[in-house]
Amino acid sequence: MLTIETGETNKILRTHCHAVTDFDKNLLHFVAEMEETMAQEDPETGIRGVGLAANQVGDLRRILLITLNVGERKEQKVLPMINPEITWISPQKVLMEEGCLSLPGVFEYVARPARVQARWQGADGTWHERKFGKWDARILLHELDHLDGTLFTDYRKS
Ligand SMILES: [Zn+2]
Repeated sequence: MLTIETGETNKILRTHCHAVTDFDKNLLHFVAEMEETMAQEDPETGIRGVGLAANQVGDLRRILLITLNVGERKEQKVLPMINPEITWISPQKVLMEEGCLSLPGVFEYVARPARVQARWQGADGTWHERKFGKWDARILLHELDHLDGTLFTDYRKS
C-alpha cells in the first residue's frame, strides 16, 4: 500500500509533474499499486477515493486514475491515464462539491467545465482520445490539477 501525501503546503503536492517516458513493467506495477491504494477505505472516515494522481502517493510522473460512472447506474470502472492532456473544454461550467484524499475532511464547491475532451496514453503507451462528462469530467480535471501542483482549495474565492 502506498502512503497518501497530505496538506495544502506539501511540496510534493505542489510539484508540476513530468511526462512518463518509460512504458515498462515497472509502470504497470505502479499503476496497480495506485489502484489498490485508491480502493482502500480510510479507516476514520470510511471514504474511498474516486481518483488518484501519482504525486498524491509521492511519485512525480504524470499518471492519474479516475473512476468512471460515479453516480451513474452503469458499472464503475477505473481508468488509468498516462500523460493526460485536455484537448477541448465545454463553455458551460457546473458547480459541484469536491473532496480530496490529500485534504481529509475538506469539502468545497468548485466550478469547472461540464464536459471535456482529453487524450492520454495507456500503460502500454497507446494514445486514446474521448469526451468525458458529469463526474468523469469532474474527477479528471481534479486529478489533472494535482499533476500541475494545484489543489481544489486553490479555487476558493478570496
Ligand atoms: Zn485530490
